[in-house]
Amino acid sequence: MSQIHRLSPRLANQIAAGEVVERPASVVKEVLENAVDAGATRIDVEVEAGGSKLIRVRDNGSGMSADDLPLALARHATSKIHSLEDLERVGSLGFRGEALASIGSVSRLTLTSNHRDDSSEGCSALSEGREMEVTVKPAPHPRGTTVEVRDLFFNTPARRKFLRTEKTEFNHLEEVVKRLALSRFDVGFSLRHNGRGIHNLKPADSDAERRRRVASICGPAFMEQAIHIEHDRAPLRLWGWVGLPTFSRSQADLQYFFVNGRVIRDKLVAHAVKQAYRDVLYHGRHPAFVLYLELDPAQVDVNVHPTKHEVRFRDGRTVHNFIFSSLHRALADVRPGQDSPAQA
Ligand code: ADP
Ligand code: MG
Repeated sequence: MSQIHRLSPRLANQIAAGEVVERPASVVKEVLENAVDAGATRIDVEVEAGGSKLIRVRDNGSGMSADDLPLALARHATSKIHSLEDLERVGSLGFRGEALASIGSVSRLTLTSNHRDDSSEGCSALSEGREMEVTVKPAPHPRGTTVEVRDLFFNTPARRKFLRTEKTEFNHLEEVVKRLALSRFDVGFSLRHNGRGIHNLKPADSDAERRRRVASICGPAFMEQAIHIEHDRAPLRLWGWVGLPTFSRSQADLQYFFVNGRVIRDKLVAHAVKQAYRDVLYHGRHPAFVLYLELDPAQVDVNVHPTKHEVRFRDGRTVHNFIFSSLHRALADVRPGQDSPAQA
Protein backbone atom coordinates (compact mmCIF):
# COMPACT_ATOMS: atom_id res chain seq x y z
CA MET A 1 0.00 0.00 0.00
CA SER A 2 1.21 3.46 -0.85
CA GLN A 3 2.46 5.70 1.96
CA ILE A 4 1.84 8.87 0.04
CA HIS A 5 -1.62 10.37 -0.25
CA ARG A 6 -3.03 13.64 -1.51
CA LEU A 7 -4.09 16.24 1.03
CA SER A 8 -7.73 17.26 0.89
CA PRO A 9 -8.23 20.68 -0.72
CA ARG A 10 -9.26 22.11 2.64
CA LEU A 11 -6.12 20.88 4.39
CA ALA A 12 -3.89 22.05 1.53
CA ASN A 13 -5.56 25.46 1.76
CA GLN A 14 -5.21 25.55 5.53
CA ILE A 15 -1.51 24.94 5.20
CA ALA A 16 -1.25 27.72 2.59
CA ALA A 17 -3.36 29.95 4.86
CA GLY A 18 -0.54 29.83 7.39
CA GLU A 19 1.41 32.15 5.11
CA VAL A 20 -1.23 34.77 4.36
CA VAL A 21 -3.85 34.59 7.10
CA GLU A 22 -2.24 35.34 10.40
CA ARG A 23 -5.02 37.36 12.05
CA PRO A 24 -8.20 39.32 11.23
CA ALA A 25 -6.08 42.18 9.84
CA SER A 26 -4.62 39.86 7.20
CA VAL A 27 -8.12 38.92 6.05
CA VAL A 28 -9.08 42.57 5.79
CA LYS A 29 -5.93 43.32 3.80
CA GLU A 30 -6.62 40.61 1.23
CA VAL A 31 -10.30 41.39 0.90
CA LEU A 32 -9.74 45.16 0.62
CA GLU A 33 -7.06 44.63 -2.01
CA ASN A 34 -9.48 42.53 -4.01
CA ALA A 35 -12.08 45.30 -3.83
CA VAL A 36 -9.53 47.86 -5.03
CA ASP A 37 -8.39 45.54 -7.83
CA ALA A 38 -12.06 45.21 -8.84
CA GLY A 39 -12.16 48.98 -9.40
CA ALA A 40 -14.36 49.82 -6.41
CA THR A 41 -14.82 53.51 -5.60
CA ARG A 42 -16.52 52.80 -2.32
CA ILE A 43 -15.58 50.13 0.25
CA ASP A 44 -17.44 49.61 3.51
CA VAL A 45 -15.88 47.49 6.24
CA GLU A 46 -17.84 46.25 9.20
CA VAL A 47 -16.28 44.10 11.91
CA GLU A 48 -17.27 42.56 15.20
CA ALA A 49 -15.07 41.52 18.10
CA GLY A 50 -11.86 42.79 16.54
CA GLY A 51 -12.71 40.88 13.37
CA SER A 52 -12.55 37.42 14.90
CA LYS A 53 -16.33 37.07 14.96
CA LEU A 54 -17.22 38.92 11.77
CA ILE A 55 -15.56 40.79 8.93
CA ARG A 56 -17.89 42.08 6.25
CA VAL A 57 -16.54 44.06 3.31
CA ARG A 58 -18.84 45.47 0.70
CA ASP A 59 -17.61 47.07 -2.51
CA ASN A 60 -19.10 48.59 -5.64
CA GLY A 61 -16.46 47.12 -7.96
CA SER A 62 -16.82 44.93 -11.04
CA GLY A 63 -18.52 42.04 -9.24
CA MET A 64 -18.40 38.42 -10.32
CA SER A 65 -20.67 36.17 -12.35
CA ALA A 66 -22.18 32.91 -11.06
CA ASP A 67 -19.51 31.01 -13.02
CA ASP A 68 -16.69 33.01 -11.52
CA LEU A 69 -17.70 32.58 -7.88
CA PRO A 70 -16.47 28.98 -7.48
CA LEU A 71 -13.22 29.93 -9.20
CA ALA A 72 -12.74 32.89 -6.88
CA LEU A 73 -12.83 30.40 -4.00
CA ALA A 74 -10.44 27.95 -5.66
CA ARG A 75 -6.72 27.93 -5.05
CA HIS A 76 -4.37 29.23 -7.76
CA ALA A 77 -7.28 30.80 -9.62
CA THR A 78 -6.95 34.47 -10.54
CA SER A 79 -8.23 36.89 -13.15
CA LYS A 80 -5.19 39.12 -12.73
CA ILE A 81 -2.30 37.43 -14.50
CA HIS A 82 -2.01 34.90 -17.29
CA SER A 83 1.69 34.52 -17.83
CA LEU A 84 5.11 35.06 -16.34
CA GLU A 85 5.41 38.25 -18.39
CA ASP A 86 2.26 39.56 -16.69
CA LEU A 87 3.81 38.78 -13.33
CA GLU A 88 6.83 40.89 -14.19
CA ARG A 89 4.68 43.93 -14.87
CA VAL A 90 1.88 43.27 -12.42
CA GLY A 91 -0.17 46.37 -11.63
CA SER A 92 -2.84 44.80 -9.44
CA LEU A 93 -2.43 44.32 -5.71
CA GLY A 94 -3.28 40.62 -5.92
CA PHE A 95 -2.09 37.97 -8.37
CA ARG A 96 -1.41 34.77 -6.43
CA GLY A 97 -4.97 33.55 -6.50
CA GLU A 98 -4.84 32.00 -3.05
CA ALA A 99 -6.25 34.52 -0.60
CA LEU A 100 -9.93 33.61 -0.78
CA ALA A 101 -9.19 29.88 -0.86
CA SER A 102 -6.99 30.29 2.21
CA ILE A 103 -9.49 32.44 4.09
CA GLY A 104 -12.32 30.06 3.16
CA SER A 105 -10.44 27.11 4.62
CA VAL A 106 -10.12 28.68 8.08
CA SER A 107 -13.45 30.53 8.44
CA ARG A 108 -17.10 30.58 7.40
CA LEU A 109 -16.77 32.56 4.19
CA THR A 110 -19.65 33.76 2.03
CA LEU A 111 -19.23 35.69 -1.21
CA THR A 112 -22.19 37.57 -2.60
CA SER A 113 -21.71 39.33 -5.88
CA ASN A 114 -23.32 40.84 -8.95
CA HIS A 115 -21.45 41.89 -12.09
CA ARG A 116 -24.36 43.63 -13.81
CA ASP A 117 -25.44 47.24 -13.60
CA ASP A 118 -28.91 46.58 -14.90
CA SER A 119 -29.99 44.02 -12.30
CA SER A 120 -30.10 43.73 -8.53
CA GLU A 121 -30.08 39.92 -8.73
CA GLY A 122 -26.67 38.42 -7.96
CA CYS A 123 -25.58 35.18 -6.37
CA SER A 124 -23.85 33.98 -3.28
CA ALA A 125 -21.36 31.18 -2.73
CA LEU A 126 -19.80 29.34 0.14
CA SER A 127 -17.43 26.41 0.19
CA GLU A 128 -17.98 23.54 2.57
CA GLY A 129 -16.57 20.19 3.59
CA ARG A 130 -13.10 18.72 3.27
CA GLU A 131 -13.18 19.09 -0.50
CA MET A 132 -14.45 22.67 -0.21
CA GLU A 133 -17.24 22.09 -2.70
CA VAL A 134 -18.90 25.35 -3.62
CA THR A 135 -22.66 25.95 -3.46
CA VAL A 136 -23.96 28.87 -5.52
CA LYS A 137 -27.43 30.34 -4.96
CA PRO A 138 -29.22 33.42 -6.29
CA ALA A 139 -29.09 36.36 -3.89
CA PRO A 140 -29.99 40.03 -4.20
CA HIS A 141 -26.99 42.35 -4.46
CA PRO A 142 -26.29 45.59 -6.33
CA ARG A 143 -23.29 45.61 -8.70
CA GLY A 144 -20.23 44.78 -6.62
CA THR A 145 -19.28 42.22 -4.03
CA THR A 146 -19.79 41.52 -0.34
CA VAL A 147 -17.36 39.22 1.39
CA GLU A 148 -18.41 37.93 4.77
CA VAL A 149 -15.92 36.13 6.97
CA ARG A 150 -17.30 34.70 10.20
CA ASP A 151 -15.58 32.89 13.05
CA LEU A 152 -12.02 33.13 11.81
CA PHE A 153 -9.95 30.05 12.78
CA PHE A 154 -13.02 28.27 14.20
CA ASN A 155 -11.63 25.01 12.79
CA THR A 156 -7.97 25.67 13.56
CA PRO A 157 -7.93 26.08 17.35
CA ALA A 158 -4.14 26.24 17.46
CA ARG A 159 -4.23 29.43 15.38
CA ARG A 160 -7.19 30.86 17.20
CA LYS A 161 -5.19 30.66 20.41
CA PHE A 162 -2.69 33.10 18.95
CA LEU A 163 -5.26 35.85 18.57
CA ARG A 164 -4.69 38.74 20.95
CA THR A 165 -7.27 40.89 22.70
CA GLU A 166 -10.14 42.34 20.70
CA LYS A 167 -8.56 45.78 20.98
CA THR A 168 -5.15 44.65 19.71
CA GLU A 169 -6.68 42.77 16.79
CA PHE A 170 -8.83 45.77 15.93
CA ASN A 171 -5.81 48.10 16.02
CA HIS A 172 -4.00 45.92 13.50
CA LEU A 173 -7.07 45.78 11.33
CA GLU A 174 -7.62 49.53 11.48
CA GLU A 175 -4.00 50.03 10.47
CA VAL A 176 -4.64 48.00 7.32
CA VAL A 177 -7.63 50.19 6.45
CA LYS A 178 -5.58 53.35 7.06
CA ARG A 179 -2.78 52.16 4.79
CA LEU A 180 -5.17 51.40 1.99
CA ALA A 181 -6.98 54.69 2.48
CA LEU A 182 -3.63 56.48 2.18
CA SER A 183 -2.75 54.54 -0.93
CA ARG A 184 -6.02 55.22 -2.77
CA PHE A 185 -7.36 58.73 -2.34
CA ASP A 186 -9.85 58.12 -5.13
CA VAL A 187 -11.68 55.44 -3.14
CA GLY A 188 -14.14 56.11 -0.30
CA PHE A 189 -13.71 53.97 2.82
CA SER A 190 -15.74 53.39 5.94
CA LEU A 191 -14.94 51.28 8.97
CA ARG A 192 -17.34 50.23 11.72
CA HIS A 193 -16.48 48.21 14.81
CA ASN A 194 -19.17 46.58 16.96
CA GLY A 195 -21.74 48.90 15.37
CA ARG A 196 -19.71 52.07 15.99
CA GLY A 197 -18.47 54.26 13.14
CA ILE A 198 -14.66 54.61 13.31
CA HIS A 199 -13.76 56.09 9.90
CA ASN A 200 -15.79 57.51 7.09
CA LEU A 201 -13.60 58.83 4.29
CA LYS A 202 -15.08 60.25 1.11
CA PRO A 203 -13.07 59.99 -2.10
CA ALA A 204 -10.49 62.78 -2.05
CA ASP A 205 -10.02 64.44 -5.45
CA SER A 206 -8.53 67.84 -4.69
CA ASP A 207 -5.32 68.68 -2.87
CA ALA A 208 -7.29 70.05 0.04
CA GLU A 209 -9.32 66.85 0.32
CA ARG A 210 -6.20 64.73 0.19
CA ARG A 211 -4.65 66.80 2.96
CA ARG A 212 -7.81 66.35 4.98
CA ARG A 213 -7.68 62.59 4.54
CA VAL A 214 -4.05 62.42 5.64
CA ALA A 215 -4.88 64.61 8.63
CA SER A 216 -7.77 62.41 9.61
CA ILE A 217 -5.58 59.29 9.38
CA CYS A 218 -2.28 60.61 10.75
CA GLY A 219 -3.67 63.29 13.03
CA PRO A 220 -4.01 67.04 12.42
CA ALA A 221 -0.75 67.73 14.30
CA PHE A 222 1.20 65.79 11.67
CA MET A 223 -0.32 67.78 8.83
CA GLU A 224 0.44 71.07 10.58
CA GLN A 225 4.09 70.12 10.95
CA ALA A 226 4.70 68.36 7.66
CA ILE A 227 6.03 69.67 4.40
CA HIS A 228 4.73 68.57 1.07
CA ILE A 229 7.37 67.28 -1.27
CA GLU A 230 7.30 66.41 -4.92
CA HIS A 231 10.40 65.33 -6.76
CA ASP A 232 10.50 64.09 -10.32
CA ARG A 233 13.58 62.57 -11.86
CA ALA A 234 12.18 60.40 -14.60
CA PRO A 235 11.63 57.51 -14.40
CA LEU A 236 11.48 58.03 -10.61
CA ARG A 237 8.98 60.19 -8.79
CA LEU A 238 8.66 60.75 -5.05
CA TRP A 239 5.93 62.80 -3.43
CA GLY A 240 4.06 63.05 -0.17
CA TRP A 241 4.43 64.64 3.21
CA VAL A 242 7.38 64.51 5.55
CA GLY A 243 7.18 65.55 9.16
CA LEU A 244 9.40 68.40 10.29
CA PRO A 245 12.04 67.52 12.87
CA THR A 246 9.80 69.26 15.42
CA PHE A 247 7.28 66.47 14.89
CA SER A 248 9.61 63.57 15.65
CA ARG A 249 8.26 60.53 17.46
CA SER A 250 9.58 58.22 20.14
CA GLN A 251 8.46 55.27 18.00
CA ALA A 252 8.51 54.56 14.29
CA ASP A 253 4.71 54.42 14.27
CA LEU A 254 3.82 57.09 11.72
CA GLN A 255 5.74 55.96 8.71
CA TYR A 256 4.02 55.10 5.49
CA PHE A 257 5.95 54.31 2.36
CA PHE A 258 4.18 53.25 -0.81
CA VAL A 259 5.81 51.87 -3.92
CA ASN A 260 3.53 52.06 -6.92
CA GLY A 261 0.53 52.20 -4.59
CA ARG A 262 1.59 49.25 -2.46
CA VAL A 263 2.59 49.81 1.15
CA ILE A 264 5.99 48.31 1.83
CA ARG A 265 8.60 47.84 4.52
CA ASP A 266 12.04 47.85 3.08
CA LYS A 267 15.49 48.13 4.65
CA LEU A 268 16.90 50.13 1.78
CA VAL A 269 14.06 52.67 1.92
CA ALA A 270 14.23 52.88 5.71
CA HIS A 271 17.96 53.48 5.51
CA ALA A 272 17.63 56.26 2.91
CA VAL A 273 15.01 58.06 5.01
CA LYS A 274 17.03 57.67 8.18
CA GLN A 275 20.12 59.09 6.52
CA ALA A 276 18.18 62.10 5.26
CA TYR A 277 16.97 62.89 8.77
CA ARG A 278 20.27 62.08 10.44
CA ASP A 279 21.44 65.62 10.97
CA VAL A 280 18.10 67.08 12.00
CA LEU A 281 16.76 64.51 14.47
CA TYR A 282 18.01 63.69 17.94
CA HIS A 283 19.31 60.20 18.48
CA GLY A 284 16.47 57.78 19.28
CA ARG A 285 13.76 59.95 17.68
CA HIS A 286 11.87 58.77 14.61
CA PRO A 287 10.54 60.79 11.70
CA ALA A 288 6.92 60.70 10.55
CA PHE A 289 6.12 60.56 6.84
CA VAL A 290 3.65 59.55 4.17
CA LEU A 291 5.60 59.00 0.97
CA TYR A 292 4.81 57.69 -2.46
CA LEU A 293 7.49 56.36 -4.78
CA GLU A 294 6.48 55.76 -8.36
CA LEU A 295 8.62 53.90 -10.85
CA ASP A 296 8.39 51.53 -13.78
CA PRO A 297 6.77 48.31 -12.41
CA ALA A 298 9.40 46.30 -14.28
CA GLN A 299 12.01 47.90 -11.99
CA VAL A 300 10.57 46.37 -8.84
CA ASP A 301 9.79 42.78 -7.88
CA VAL A 302 6.77 42.46 -5.58
CA ASN A 303 6.67 38.67 -5.61
CA VAL A 304 9.21 38.30 -2.81
CA HIS A 305 6.85 37.31 -0.04
CA PRO A 306 3.20 36.09 0.07
CA THR A 307 2.01 39.19 1.96
CA LYS A 308 3.85 41.38 -0.59
CA HIS A 309 5.11 43.72 2.13
CA GLU A 310 8.61 43.31 0.80
CA VAL A 311 9.88 44.38 -2.56
CA ARG A 312 13.12 44.10 -4.41
CA PHE A 313 14.38 46.97 -6.55
CA ARG A 314 16.32 46.21 -9.72
CA ASP A 315 18.53 49.21 -9.12
CA GLY A 316 18.54 49.67 -5.38
CA ARG A 317 21.39 52.13 -5.30
CA THR A 318 19.65 54.62 -7.60
CA VAL A 319 16.41 54.33 -5.61
CA HIS A 320 18.30 54.84 -2.36
CA ASN A 321 20.11 57.92 -3.66
CA PHE A 322 16.94 59.38 -5.09
CA ILE A 323 15.00 59.03 -1.83
CA PHE A 324 17.89 60.32 0.22
CA SER A 325 18.55 63.37 -1.95
CA SER A 326 14.85 64.29 -2.28
CA LEU A 327 14.32 64.26 1.47
CA HIS A 328 17.68 65.76 2.35
CA ARG A 329 17.01 68.72 0.09
CA ALA A 330 13.48 69.20 1.40
CA LEU A 331 14.64 69.16 5.00
CA ALA A 332 17.59 71.44 4.32
CA ASP A 333 15.21 73.98 2.78
CA VAL A 334 13.35 74.32 6.03
CA ARG A 335 14.88 76.99 8.17
CA PRO A 336 13.84 77.62 11.73
CA GLY A 337 10.97 80.06 12.05
CA GLN A 338 9.82 79.57 8.49
CA ASP A 339 6.10 78.86 8.55
CA SER A 340 5.47 77.96 4.94
CA PRO A 341 8.41 75.86 3.89
CA ALA A 342 9.52 75.77 0.29
CA GLN A 343 8.56 72.81 -1.81
CA ALA A 344 11.37 70.51 -2.66
P1 ADP B 1 -5.98 37.20 -6.36
O1 ADP B 1 -6.45 38.50 -5.79
O2 ADP B 1 -4.55 36.95 -6.08
O3 ADP B 1 -6.35 37.03 -7.80
P2 ADP B 1 -7.92 36.03 -4.56
O4 ADP B 1 -8.04 34.68 -3.97
O5 ADP B 1 -7.78 37.17 -3.62
O6 ADP B 1 -6.71 36.00 -5.57
O7 ADP B 1 -9.18 36.30 -5.49
C1 ADP B 1 -9.43 35.38 -6.57
C2 ADP B 1 -10.19 36.06 -7.70
O8 ADP B 1 -11.52 36.38 -7.26
C3 ADP B 1 -9.61 37.39 -8.15
O9 ADP B 1 -8.60 37.21 -9.13
C4 ADP B 1 -10.84 38.09 -8.73
O10 ADP B 1 -11.07 37.72 -10.05
C5 ADP B 1 -11.99 37.55 -7.88
N1 ADP B 1 -12.39 38.50 -6.82
C6 ADP B 1 -12.06 38.43 -5.51
N2 ADP B 1 -12.61 39.45 -4.80
C7 ADP B 1 -13.30 40.20 -5.70
C8 ADP B 1 -14.09 41.41 -5.58
N3 ADP B 1 -14.25 42.04 -4.42
N4 ADP B 1 -14.66 41.86 -6.73
C9 ADP B 1 -14.50 41.22 -7.91
N5 ADP B 1 -13.77 40.10 -8.06
C10 ADP B 1 -13.17 39.59 -6.98
MG1 MG C 1 -6.53 38.92 -3.76
